[in-house]
Amino acid sequence: MKTMTCKQLGGPCDLHLRGKTANDVIKAQDSHLKEMVASGDDAHKSAAEEMRGRWKNPVAGMGWYRKAKRDFAALPEG
Ligand SMILES: [Zn+2]
Repeated sequence: MKTMTCKQLGGPCDLHLRGKTANDVIKAQDSHLKEMVASGDDAHKSAAEEMRGRWKNPVAGMGWYRKAKRDFAALPEG
């Protein structure tokens, strides 16, 4: 398991997201952003919109996705 923060994935807070793969933490971040926005948190709105834009436009989102995967791969286990 590795840990990335909301911030490392383009969000505004230091919440730790744990997962075995980059996809796991990206999915965790996606639900975290949705939950925060649903609970009325404005700070997470722009990050949530960017995330939504990435799913809509996979080609443009690919650069961000590759970087997230690279950052994840570079993390120590634990
Ligand atoms: Zn956050």
